[in-house]
Parts: sequence; structure tokens; C-alpha cells
Amino acid sequence: MGEEKFFGYRGKALEAIKRVGAEVGDLIRITKNGEVYEGILIPRSEYGDEKHIVIKLKSGYNIGIRLSPNTKIERIGVGAKPTFASPPLPPQNPQLPKVAIISTGGTIASRVDYRTGAVRPALSASDLYSVVPELADIARIDAQILFSLYSENITPAHWTEMAKTVAEKIADGVDGVVIAHGTDTMGYSAAALSFALQNLPVPVIFVGSQRSADRPSSDAATNLTGAVLAAAKAPFAEVAVAMHETISDTAIVLHRGTKVRKCHTSRRDAFKSVNAQPLAKIVENRVVMLAEDYKRRDPSQKLVVKPNFSDKVALIKFYPGMDPAIIDWHVDKGYKAIVLEGTGLGHVSNRFFQPIRRAVEKGVVAMASQCIWGRVNMNVYDTGRDLMALGVIPLEDMLAETATVKLMWIFGQTDNPEEAKQLLKTNIAGEFSQRTLHEETWEEAKQ
Ligand code: GLU
Repeated sequence: MGEEKFFGYRGKALEAIKRVGAEVGDLIRITKNGEVYEGILIPRSEYGDEKHIVIKLKSGYNIGIRLSPNTKIERIGVGAKPTFASPPLPPQNPQLPKVAIISTGGTIASRVDYRTGAVRPALSASDLYSVVPELADIARIDAQILFSLYSENITPAHWTEMAKTVAEKIADGVDGVVIAHGTDTMGYSAAALSFALQNLPVPVIFVGSQRSADRPSSDAATNLTGAVLAAAKAPFAEVAVAMHETISDTAIVLHRGTKVRKCHTSRRDAFKSVNAQPLAKIVENRVVMLAEDYKRRDPSQKLVVKPNFSDKVALIKFYPGMDPAIIDWHVDKGYKAIVLEGTGLGHVSNRFFQPIRRAVEKGVVAMASQCIWGRVNMNVYDTGRDLMALGVIPLEDMLAETATVKLMWIFGQTDNPEEAKQLLKTNIAGEFSQRTLHEETWEEAKQ
């Protein structure tokens, strides 16, 4: 994350502020083209360029000034450095359930210093209580920062760490676990832990937020409160994702970890259960079950942890004109399984048949649909039947992402392709259903 004193500054901009001995928080004056700007040096985005210096003006506005050969910088005052003082912890009520919160990063896990704009991971128990004080009325919180990552940087190796950390918390006797996570790949991590943590005695709830906690429209506090409530009290013991049900703040919905997908870039209700009823919903601080079939909370269950994943599994989306050599490339690189995201009921061009035959000889090829909603059916058209004859496995109504994670998990358990195929066809964590609800029934079910 860069040097703390220079939050986000790199290259030329970093050199320029170092040259005058300034650090983030100091008062500086910048003179450029006859204009003079004075303000507090504030942090930059890590992804910002190397040429701008950002200051907060007295008016409260932030401006970025591009460095040019005639830009003069002076440090005119030593300012307070970004501080994140934590308030005292509220007294813990020993009657309340105990919930562990494991933070992996993302928007939900960040806290902003309003004066300087610095952002830092913030999930110590006291930070949490300062942002969401009502948590103290729901549970005794044990908070831990495991990673501080944007979720696009999370890999299968991180899923292994998450699974092991959850297992430690459960061994310590918590009543539920919450994992704070960036929303972009939260669905993948939720699927990964659904396979890695079997025979769960208590719920494991992923939670994220679409808007950061410093914005009035933030969903961070409501989502987190819902997640902690579910971890503390839900009658199910499965991996789920807790997010807004709609764009209003009224309900938090819990999606099964293997059936959930981020379906919108920015809306608060971005997460949807696909081809399934959500697991449960929080209504007036109570967890109301929506799914009929679920694994029940039972503290006497003995958790089985299978935390290994292979990264030699690929998810390949087919498109018109795609070069079939892409399949050969993966086989040559030693990939053990390929999930094809085919068209419609589960098709790819017949130009792919030969490379697929070779891939099936070496490992597993499975078919999901890029339609997202609905079930793969490879019996309807001859393309589907030909693909099945080549050994392609239809993935029923499983999400392509979940199928990819499942195969990564399967090849973390075995190297035997026949055993892998059997595991792929076995419903392990509610990842597919025998029957997809009819579309109309679905609409009714959602109302
Ligand atoms: N892209 C980042 C992530 O997924 C930040 C967005 C978020 O937390 O939702 O971690």
C-alpha cells in the first residue's frame, strides 16, 4: 500500500513532495502559472498517475495539480498526520452470542480519515463499534484483519487461508462467523468456502458493501448488522452472502454461497440468487428462512475442513469466431479442467470438437451456460448431444463461476479425473438442484 507518510504518491509526485520535506497532512503551497494554491497534502489513490499532487483547500474542496517544470512547491506548515483514534470498547454482554468477524478487505473493511482522506483497513473491534455501535447489542464481537485486499486480488491460496481461519474461530467456540469481503469476487470466495467447510456447526456469512462507509448512501452498516445477526442467530449452518435485498434499506437477504452472483456494478441490491430461492431474509431483526431445504445449526457437528484448491482450472467463455486453439493452449499448459461457458442450452461451435476431444482425454471438460438463468440441457440439439458424446459434462443449473471453483476444489482433493467427474456430479453444497423452478413460479416466489 506504499509508504504510510506518503499514502499513494509515486514517481515524480513522490519525489517532488519528498524534496521539500512534506508528508501527507502538512500544509503546502503550490505556485503554478501565476496561480497560488494552499492546502493540506492529502493521500492519492494508489491507481492515480505519478504527476498530480492533491491538496484539500481551506474551502474543503480537493484539487489535483499537475506537476510541470515551472510548478513550485513549498511546505508552509507541519500538519497533523492522519489519525484513526479508536473509541473505547463497549461493555460486552456475556449473555450474547459470540461472533468472529474476519476481514479480507474491500470497501466494507475500509475507514476514511475525513480531514486528510486517508483510507485504512478498519476492522478492529473498536473500529467496528465506532462505525456500527448497534453490533454491541447483537453479539460479542471478536474482530480480526486477515488480509487487506481488493477482492480482484484474491486467489485460491487466500480461500485456503480463509477456510483455515474460520475453522480456528469455530474451534474457539464462536456462534457464527462473518467474513468481510470486497464485493467483486465475493461470490467466488463464498462458493470456495461452501466446498472447503463441510459439516458446519454454525453459519459463515460473507458481507460486503457497494458504497463506502463515508458516503451517506453507504450500505456498509446495514449489511454488516444483518450479517452479524445471521451469524449469531440464523437456524442454518451454511456459507451465505448477506447483502441488500432491494435498493432501500429495509431488508437484508441471505444468499446460498454456491448460488449467488454479483449482477450489477453499483446498485446496493447487486447480489442475486441464481436458479434458487435465497436461503433466508432478515425481517425486523429476525432471520426468516425462505429455503425449505437447508443444513441446520447444530453446535455438536464436527467441522470437516478441506481447504486445498488447484489453480489449474479454467473458465472459458465461448463467443462467435473464438479460436479453438485456446482450448489446446490450456491443455498444453497442464490445465486439469475447463468449464466452458457455452451459448444457450450448452453449446459451442463444432470447430471446438477436436480440441475438446483432446482436453477430455487429459482431464475434465464441463458445460455451463452464459445465459446465467436456466438449466443446461444438452439433449435438445445435436450440438449438445455431440459434445456429450465427446465426454463434456453438463453442469445442470450451476453457475459457471461456482462450477469453476468446485473443480478447483475437486482437483485440490484428487488428481484422478474419474474421481473428479464423480465429485463434480455430486451435489455437495447446494450448487445445483434437481429441478429448476419454472420461470413464472419464480416470479411469484420473488414477490
Ligand atoms: N473492487 C474492490 C473489491 O471488490 C472494491 C469494491 C468493493 O469492495 O465492493 O474488493
